[in-house]
Amino acid sequence: MSQPGAADTFCEECNQHYRLGRARAGQSLKCRRCGHALRHVPRQPLQAPLALAIAALSLFPLIFCFSFLGISQGGNTTAIEFWQTTSGLTEGYYYLVATLLVLGLMLFPLIDLVIIAYLYGQLALGHKPEHAKPLLLVHHQLRMWLMVDVFLIGVLVALVKITAYADIQFGLSFWAFCLFVCLYLATLTSVDRHYLYQQCLGPLQTVNPAPNQPLWPCSHCHQLNLEPGRCRRCQASLQQRKAGGLERPLAFLLAAVVLYIPANVHPIMTTSTLGVAEPSTILGGVVLLWQLEDYPIALVIFIASVFVPIAKMIAIAWLCWTVYRRQPHSPQEMTRMYRITEFIGRWSMIDVFVVALLAALIQIQGLANVTPGPAAVSFAAVVVLTMLAAASFDPRLIWDHCADASHG
Ligand SMILES: [Zn+2]
Ligand SMILES: [Zn+2]
Repeated sequence: MSQPGAADTFCEECNQHYRLGRARAGQSLKCRRCGHALRHVPRQPLQAPLALAIAALSLFPLIFCFSFLGISQGGNTTAIEFWQTTSGLTEGYYYLVATLLVLGLMLFPLIDLVIIAYLYGQLALGHKPEHAKPLLLVHHQLRMWLMVDVFLIGVLVALVKITAYADIQFGLSFWAFCLFVCLYLATLTSVDRHYLYQQCLGPLQTVNPAPNQPLWPCSHCHQLNLEPGRCRRCQASLQQRKAGGLERPLAFLLAAVVLYIPANVHPIMTTSTLGVAEPSTILGGVVLLWQLEDYPIALVIFIASVFVPIAKMIAIAWLCWTVYRRQPHSPQEMTRMYRITEFIGRWSMIDVFVVALLAALIQIQGLANVTPGPAAVSFAAVVVLTMLAAASFDPRLIWDHCADASHG
């Protein structure tokens, strides 16, 4: 007999099964085996996300209606609006980077916030939201592609680079964007996925499998299922492990390694001053910044564009190799490495955003202009491919050859 309010679920990182009782507000539950946060019960699960999402959404028009940034040098002034941050990326294959910017900065955050505001708004009115299942799925999938915080750091880096050569004017849209990023991050932090699923789809159900009966965990709503096919709670398709095994992360990794060569050999941008073009590679840019004694910026670019991508590729290769050899030295350490790899994935995009912004902003007729180089496309592809490699790696594979998962 299960106690009232009990629910069967599992740890998405090590597959340990748990029968959880009713949790108190403010309580945090961690997996005993791998330390993954199973859930944190927020004190205000409904009001905080709704208020924050509405506040963030209300800033959206302000970001697009006013001037974002302007620079002036020698009597020449250039100003851009927020949507024009992609204007330097319209030719050739640069539109791929521009698409990434438009999706990660504008479209996905808007869709995500509308979904959050709609779901929580309906719940606040006492209604069960319609189409909750696909909306929750979209909200879950969009998370890894949101780039607003990375872009803000990229903007700050670009501004520090420019400030030595030109005066900068901050438009109303810039301040609205800074506030938007803070509110959006606060919204995402306050959203409790388990609460949302519980309110929209009903509570997790208990399962009573026969001894040695395989269970089918749902990676979206965390319901354990006795039958394969579709989740009985959220209708998502069920898989014991992420599709593709080790082949998929390895394929993404191999493509990233191949593209990392042109990303470093070709220039990432070309600066033309008074008609003299000066192409610079990623590493060349870091060296130049160091020589100009811009140590903090040189360090940020070095960490984001050189250290992190290489460390990420080595980490994914190491994870795949140890799983393949079935000899995880320390599953806890390997899981921690996986978490870090997944977390830092987006941050390598800083240099690409710096180039995009400089190319949009520095267009001073006859005096100076910046154009993106082919490495911007290859490097953006490397970042996306390593993100896909980390996302397609299933950390439960690390634990599969340890002691069998048991009920907690
Ligand atoms: Zn775990
Ligand atoms: Zn489900």
